[in-house]
This record gives sequence, C-alpha cells and structure tokens, in this order.
Amino acid sequence: MLTLEEARAAILAEVTPAAATEMTSLAQAHGRFVARELRAQVDNPAFDNSAMDGYALRAADLTAAGFVLPRRGECRCGDAPGRLAAGTTMRIFTGAPLPEGADTVVIQEDIKLEGDTVVFPKTVQPGSHLRRRSEDFHQGDVLYQPGRRLSAYDLALLSAAGVAQIPVYVSARVLVVATGDELVAPGAPLRPGQIYESNRLATILLLRELGMDAVDGGTVRDEPAALRALLKSSADFDFIITSGGASVGDHDLVKQVFAEIGQIKFWKVKIKPGKPIAFGRVGTRTHFFALPGNPVSSLVTFKLFVEPALIAWHHGTARLPQLTATATNEFRRHPGRTEFVRAHLVNENGKLMVTALRGQGSHMLGPLRETNGFIRVEADSAGFKPGETVMTVPLNTDFS
Ligand code: AMP
Ligand code: MG
Repeated sequence: MLTLEEARAAILAEVTPAAATEMTSLAQAHGRFVARELRAQVDNPAFDNSAMDGYALRAADLTAAGFVLPRRGECRCGDAPGRLAAGTTMRIFTGAPLPEGADTVVIQEDIKLEGDTVVFPKTVQPGSHLRRRSEDFHQGDVLYQPGRRLSAYDLALLSAAGVAQIPVYVSARVLVVATGDELVAPGAPLRPGQIYESNRLATILLLRELGMDAVDGGTVRDEPAALRALLKSSADFDFIITSGGASVGDHDLVKQVFAEIGQIKFWKVKIKPGKPIAFGRVGTRTHFFALPGNPVSSLVTFKLFVEPALIAWHHGTARLPQLTATATNEFRRHPGRTEFVRAHLVNENGKLMVTALRGQGSHMLGPLRETNGFIRVEADSAGFKPGETVMTVPLNTDFS
C-alpha cells in the first residue's frame, strides 16, 4: 500500500501531458492553461502620464517665477498634447499624457487659481504625481509561461498588454461513470435495497469547475461485460473516472476490468477515507481512476488524486493548500492511515480555528453542509485535543 505522498508522486510521474493546443479569445481563456510564452505587445504605461488631476509644469520654472505660473491649455485623457510652453503650466487630468517638457504634476487641491494664473505651494516635489512609460512592463516582456492557469486578473493584464488571442492547451476530455446495481437516479421511486446515485453528478460538476470537458457516461451495472463495453470507447478520452466497485468484494468489478484492458499502477493508498482507489492507464492516451463508491471517499480521492493529475495533464502545477489551525474539539482514533477529517474552519480575529464535524462515516453526506475543509491527521497520530495545532486542507476561503 502506498502512502498519500507516494501515490501522488506516482500519479504525477505517470501522467502524459497534453500536446494539443488551440487559440482562444481573452474571455474564453478564463480558467484555461497557457500553452506558449505570452509577451507584452506594448509598454505599460504606453506614455508618461499624470497620476492625478492637477497642473503639469517644469519644476525649474517654479523657483524662477516665484511659484506663480500662467495657465496655458489643457490635456485630457485621449489627447495628444504638444509641448509645454516655457514658464507656463497646463491643466491635466488623471491618465492624460504629460506634455513634452513637463516633469512634475501638482494636484489641484494644492494650488490657488487667480484668474488665469496658478499659485503653487513652495513645497512642490519635482517629479511628483507621474506615471512613467513602461514602469509596469515593457513591450516584449514575458508575462506568462506555459502551464499557468489564467484568472480574471491575468486576463485584465493580458488585455492591457494588447494580447488578443491566447494559445491554451485543449481541455481534457473526461468520461465519468457510476457503477452499482443498487443505484437509482433521483426522481425515480426507491425499491428495497436501492439508493439514489450522487457521485457522478458531483464529479462532473467538480470537473467543470476545473474547466474540463466532462462527459456523463451514466450508471453501469455490476457486470464485467457492461463495463467492458463502455470502456471500449475509452480511446476518445484522456481520463476515465469511475466510482464504486473499486475494492475487493465479489461484485467489485472495476479493478478487475481495468486490469484486463489496461495497466493498473496502484490500487490501494494508506488514507482514510478512500483506501481502495485504482489508478492506471489504458492504451497510450487514457488515464483512469477507479474511485471508491462511498460519497465522502469519492470527494476526498477526487481532491487528493484526480485534481492534481488533471492539472499536471494541462502542464500546470498542482498544489494542495495546507494551513495550520487550532482545534476546538477532541478527535480520537487508531493510528494507521493518513486521515482526512471533515471539518469546519472559521477565522477568529485572524486566527484559524477548526472543528471536526460529527458524523465522519464515509457514507454520510449531511456534514458536507458545514464542510469547508479537512483536518489532516498523520498516519502515526492518535488524534488531537482542543487547543492543539493541527494541519488543515481548506476546500475554499469561506472561513474568512
Ligand atoms: P462500492 O465502492 O461499490 O463497494 O460502494 C461503497 C458504497 O458506496 C456502497 O454503500 C454503495 O452503495 C455506495 N455507492 C457506490 N456508488 C455510489 C454512487 N455513485 N453514489 C452514491 N453512493 C454510491
Ligand atoms: Mg458497488
């Protein structure tokens, strides 16, 4: 059985990253992974300009003229002002180009207007309130490297840099399949022994959040022939994710069928929940994950194993954010596996506090309402007491 870290490393070593790329518009590049170096097309700022509403002048003129200058002209955003006449000042607005010859802007709050002359304070700092050409970045600067996932802010920067088309890696095509004779779609009545299926939708939605092209493969019965037939279409997918049937029961067929049609790299990890999880390859293109059927195990193993694999496939760097927090309650257990305890994190005056939720059974979905992270309990640990520092894995930032 592999440890958590060994399993994550084995996955990253085995993933064959995407080769295909496509061009997208800025808006469509949101959440996508950059495929080639992106360079600035222009300097930013593109020209020296004013940082404030005020008056542009040449600092040397001020002392010569006793801090009183005649006002000549005005420069607004979008204007192309000429030269500042010697011994004068020009009205200027935030973002407007600095007239040639000017080297200082004085803010409007600091001056006094007397007809067409402007009286300046003696405290003017030469060179103040200017934004210099290219102080942000230069034309030709490399802004992003391949593998970077683009956020809304990144796309604002690329817009400002004049980049209109972005080369990105194609999105992974992922087939999601649930397995189990007991599974029924919500809406249908439950017959004895049946349960409503819930993992497939959650997995598809988590994939879409990651920007993947998730395809619903439906629910397959616990019959090797049915699963085999479905996996015949695997050549069209970069990833196949199944849930259920991954352990060693008589009807746990998924591992058996994957072993037949592909190569299993590992199928057990020393974690709780989620010990039975198989990972491997089918053919040259497809990676597969057989996730456990219990809903919480499916969620945890998606986060720990599937997400990093998908990000690595897109040439990105997968990170598992971990923050220390103070436990508010006690949690006892038998050492053995690295455990991910569903937890509720809160920020108390800048200090992160965490509560282990009641109902840690991997079949229990109720506590998911409060879950915004996990407490990571190391394999050799017997748990924690209130007041102890523990390691957490936040799922979002809703604790602030
Ligand atoms: P398995 O991994 O197939 O042995 O399933 C473990 C537990 O998870 C069983 O109680 C199953 O009924 C349940 N389960 C399996 N697949 C799903 C699913 N897609 N949605 C909800 N529960 C499931
Ligand atoms: Mg099953």
